[in-house]
Amino acid sequence: MVLIVGAGPVGLALAGDLASRGQAVTIVERGDGTIEQPRMDLVGVRTMEFCRRWGIVGAVESSPYNRALAQDNVYVTSLAGYELGRERFPAMNASRPPEQSPQKRERCPQDMFDPILRDWARGFPQVEIRYRHQLVDFTADEQRVVARVLDRDAGKTLEIEAPFLVGCDGASSAVAKTIAGEMHGTPLLSNTTNIIFRAPQLLSLHDKGEAYRFIIVGTEGTWATVVAINGFDRYRMSIVRTPPEGLPREAIEAAIRRAVGLDFAFEVLSVTSWTRRELVASSYGGGRVFIAGDAAHVMSPTGGFGMNTGIGDAVDLSWKLDAVLRGWGAPALLESYAIERRPVAVFNAREASMNFGRMLSPGSNPELCDPTLAGAARRATVGPAFADAMRREWYTLGVHLGYRYDDSPVCWPDGTLAPPQEVAMYVQEARAGARAPHVWLADGRSTLDLFGDGFVLLRLGAGAPAEPIVAALRARGVPVRLVELAGEPAAVAAYASPLVLVRPDGHVAWRGSAMREPDLLADCVRGAAPDAWRTTGELTHAE
Ligand SMILES: Cc1cc2nc3c(=O)[nH]c(=O)nc-3n(C[C@H](O)[C@H](O)[C@H](O)COP(=O)(O)OP(=O)(O)OC[C@H]3O[C@@H](n4cnc5c(N)ncnc54)[C@H](O)[C@@H]3O)c2cc1C
Repeated sequence: MVLIVGAGPVGLALAGDLASRGQAVTIVERGDGTIEQPRMDLVGVRTMEFCRRWGIVGAVESSPYNRALAQDNVYVTSLAGYELGRERFPAMNASRPPEQSPQKRERCPQDMFDPILRDWARGFPQVEIRYRHQLVDFTADEQRVVARVLDRDAGKTLEIEAPFLVGCDGASSAVAKTIAGEMHGTPLLSNTTNIIFRAPQLLSLHDKGEAYRFIIVGTEGTWATVVAINGFDRYRMSIVRTPPEGLPREAIEAAIRRAVGLDFAFEVLSVTSWTRRELVASSYGGGRVFIAGDAAHVMSPTGGFGMNTGIGDAVDLSWKLDAVLRGWGAPALLESYAIERRPVAVFNAREASMNFGRMLSPGSNPELCDPTLAGAARRATVGPAFADAMRREWYTLGVHLGYRYDDSPVCWPDGTLAPPQEVAMYVQEARAGARAPHVWLADGRSTLDLFGDGFVLLRLGAGAPAEPIVAALRARGVPVRLVELAGEPAAVAAYASPLVLVRPDGHVAWRGSAMREPDLLADCVRGAAPDAWRTTGELTHAE
């Protein structure tokens, strides 16, 4: 049994993925599952690929977000004021997946997405979610973890014993503090106040039309955003650079009117003040205790990377825990978790901060809102420059799909040079450590539909010697299937190698035309011989 602390999206994703591999899971969550302030709403394309594997795409697509709402990002002096620029995006029901994926990113706010993950995870009989149960502390030795947990309703403390504990307990993680890792980065980018307000008639009060997000630029520069949080009547206004203690009620109401540009009726539903940070934990744990999600990294929401990075952690850690619990994974497999995932968090957190900097890039422009020729001239300069700068945040396929585990000790490189990771651009390739490419197969499936349970060895070159690799893996108890794809020209082109070994998380472990050291390869990918290729010098088999 794996004990997970925290039933946010990352804890729930980890629980469901572990359960889908047959593992028992207990989650302790100090809250009751109610989400007062939905934070995330962008479910990235890679997360949607995982949702496809988990069988919950339909639930995301039928969530009650307004899928007919155009998803434009609009830059304005106020909603009823001047438009400075706009990046157009179609409504969810009209958008299509990129050619590199069978899925597209989705808009599904946390108060809709978390319940989808929860219902999916709870659908496994071996998953238990204990709400209103708070981790107090824990001890760990080589065999097990013993956690003390407060049952908040009964007022009693109980002990839960498990072979592994994973802290998915968010930005102020008690688990992260206990494992004594330090957080590296910038502890204060800005204080922000988020206000959820209800205004069913808002769309009819201005001439900017439908949008997902308005960024409000005043004479002092960018000061707020207004986001359509359910696509109908609820909005989230974020005011940047507020005092740490937040704003008084009158200031909040005045700010909402200022952002819209006129007096109108609205209802404030909730207010939260929070600190925007860029921090990544120095340690993601080890032995019997790990952290994932916001417990391991916190980043500015600009870009929508936070939860998506955390779900990537969960998917990476899940199959490794399963492998070790089943006995075919060696301890170094778990050590590879931080080696693979930490650089992804560092990259994404940096990019998120730079997005925040770009969002604040319009400085003070005293005449920006003036109905004069000078004002118009200013807007004509500021608007296009801002639109140009912001574009980088809106096109991030490279962030979501292009992360790779180049330095992983459990991947076996092929000697080709690693291209730099791009933000917007993503070229699919089957180098070791990369996400295995998507192409459509003749039977209508995606290649991604082949992955998930155990390893998959793809034979893309007729007669390529796959059997010794399969035999070596099976001899060590590693689950593996051989899949013949030589008759699929699109797959042959995308994978560019006669043999490709894909891990249970859909990342490439090795590719080549033959493997002279199948036993060593099998031991490398299961963590029993980390970095084995270094000792053999056996690198390049790709032809
Ligand atoms: C305004 C805003 C917008 C955002 N938009 C996006 C977006 O569009 N896309 C995106 O990917 N990310 C976004 N993010 C980030 C995203 O919300 C977080 O990265 C994500 O919620 C982290 O998930 P988590 O499960 O790691 O942690 P959390 O969601 O924080 O969940 C942690 C859980 O652990 C519980 N817990 C804590 N301590 C204990 C304890 N001792 N015992 C038991 N339970 C405990 C908490 O109650 C909580 O339920 C946004 C963030 C903000 C602030």
